[in-house]
Amino acid sequence: MFENLQDKLERSFKVLKGHGQITEVNVAETMKEVRRSLLDADVNFKIAKDFTNRVKDKALGRDVLNTVSPGQLLVKITHEELTELMGSEHEELDLSGDPAVILMAGLQGSGKTTHSGKLAHFLKNKKGKKPLLVACDVYRPAAIDQLHVVGEQVGTEVYSNKEEKDPVKIAKDAVEYAKQNGFNAVIVDTAGRLAIDEDMMNEISSLKDALNPNETLFVVDAMTGQDAVNTAKEFNQRLDYEGVILTKLDGDTRGGAALSIRAVVQKPIKFIGTGEKMDALTPFHPSRMSDRILG
Ligand code: GDP
Repeated sequence: MFENLQDKLERSFKVLKGHGQITEVNVAETMKEVRRSLLDADVNFKIAKDFTNRVKDKALGRDVLNTVSPGQLLVKITHEELTELMGSEHEELDLSGDPAVILMAGLQGSGKTTHSGKLAHFLKNKKGKKPLLVACDVYRPAAIDQLHVVGEQVGTEVYSNKEEKDPVKIAKDAVEYAKQNGFNAVIVDTAGRLAIDEDMMNEISSLKDALNPNETLFVVDAMTGQDAVNTAKEFNQRLDYEGVILTKLDGDTRGGAALSIRAVVQKPIKFIGTGEKMDALTPFHPSRMSDRILG
């Protein structure tokens, strides 16, 4: 992930990384190069422009030209600003309550079912929880079956009811079932559509209203670039979700969505998905991501 951006930034910083004398013009040129890399990585134009302007101003403000190694300082400032752009600190899941309820939202194909399973695996193995997975896609029986397969992979019980067509009823029954059977975390996998539509939004909103979950997590495919940002925005307007899971950051993905989503939506990315296996889920740390981007 981020290979493209990382390579390009490294190339443009190479000249500056040593101790050589640099000028304001060099700084401006490098920032132009950085901006181009960000745009290539699918970062939104305004965000890229504001970002490089901020780095430039900060660098000149800190009198970068008169320091011993101006290139290194410029890299440091870029790192700081990148980290800030992605939210500065890692944000933990709120797992309070008995059970804690997590609602998964997102378009079809974004990775909701896979990441419901990964999250169950994470809660079990890293947080000592006893999770229950809940199948709330009432339109596609195959989606319910898929969640059962995933549940088996991670050794987690799956609650489903193919006779019931009201997802709110299924979810509420599942929470009741969890209470009675000692599950202290409930992960609700929901129906997605290929594009945003009113019915899907109404359904996920009523699930949120009925369940009052600790966390509504918006699941989004990083490979969709700018579309990921637009979808993140629309879901946030309707759901005011707590966090984002950015999926499919393993393949040949342009990771710019990680930068843009946080900046546009002002909601934290809580996890990144990096593969189809159940342990391919990583808590998102802005500073570590900056390390990877800058090398
Ligand atoms: P849903 O429709 O939102 O529930 O999406 P699925 O969980 O069914 O995922 C859609 C496809 O993407 C499946 O083929 C998954 O195996 C794949 N997938 C999900 N997450 C990842 C990921 O992090 N990396 C990769 N490479 N594939 C993923």
